[in-house]
Amino acid sequence: MSLLRLTFLGTSAAQPTLHRNLSGLAVKADADLLLFDCGEGSQRQMVRYGTGFSVDAVFFTHFHADHYLGIIGFLRTLGMMGREQPVRLYGPPTARRVLHQAVYLGVESLSFPVEIHELKDGDVVRRNGYSVQAVGVDHRINALAYLLAEDDRPGRFNLEKARALGVPEGPSFGKLQKGEAVTLDSGAVVRPEQVLGEARAGRRLVISGDTRPCASVVQAAKGADLLIHESTFSDEEQERALETRHSTAREAARVAREAGVRRLILTHLSSRHDTDPSKLLAQAREEYKGQVEVAHDGLTVELPLRD
Ligand SMILES: [Zn+2]
Ligand SMILES: [Zn+2]
Repeated sequence: MSLLRLTFLGTSAAQPTLHRNLSGLAVKADADLLLFDCGEGSQRQMVRYGTGFSVDAVFFTHFHADHYLGIIGFLRTLGMMGREQPVRLYGPPTARRVLHQAVYLGVESLSFPVEIHELKDGDVVRRNGYSVQAVGVDHRINALAYLLAEDDRPGRFNLEKARALGVPEGPSFGKLQKGEAVTLDSGAVVRPEQVLGEARAGRRLVISGDTRPCASVVQAAKGADLLIHESTFSDEEQERALETRHSTAREAARVAREAGVRRLILTHLSSRHDTDPSKLLAQAREEYKGQVEVAHDGLTVELPLRD
């Protein structure tokens, strides 16, 4: 995987506002396009921000209405566009029941297959070059965070060493770079570890969904390139955060600090912070000294390869 690009489709909690749509995040991972949540209006945001509609899979964090109702209209649009490839939908229980209702609301069938998969804590969905892991979190209903983990890449190829070992330039170089051993004309075998540096760690992205700050997210986000954490409230609304099983900006930042993430983006803002999230940012900065920002609709972030 070389490209890993995220586009925030919606950054508001509970209700859309003039400036912020309901939850939705588009992730372009090379050829794949994934959605994490699909709040009402997500498809219009996809048009606005140019993500394209070729979605392969949608991962729902949970089934509060602000996180999934957009799938109804989006699937109809795909049908009108003549979609044939399957769409895969993932989420915690009660995904099967809720998504089945949403997918078939008012229609008997769709022109393309829709697969619905329920995930629990620890389940891993393998994709080409990366995986998506479900992480159980603490919200009012079954809810998941997701860890998108790129596969480790082979170490750097040492050209001089390969030449010195007598490996001829050409296909043998490619084999070694892919981690395969090569037999030379002399009969000698050159193993990849003789010519490759240490494996390079893949990128890691964690999306918290709606949750209280929790140890499972800290664990999943250890050393992550980016943590996207909900930050519904400020310190002044701590009681509300506890009652509704959401996080304050300070709590989100603490998770980021404990996990040692490289970068934190706060999202899922209560309408009180809609136009001026500066208080959230200031309170987060007291806890976490890394790069932190508050998301806005349309914010696009590319995660560079680790080297
Ligand atoms: Zn929510
Ligand atoms: Zn929720």
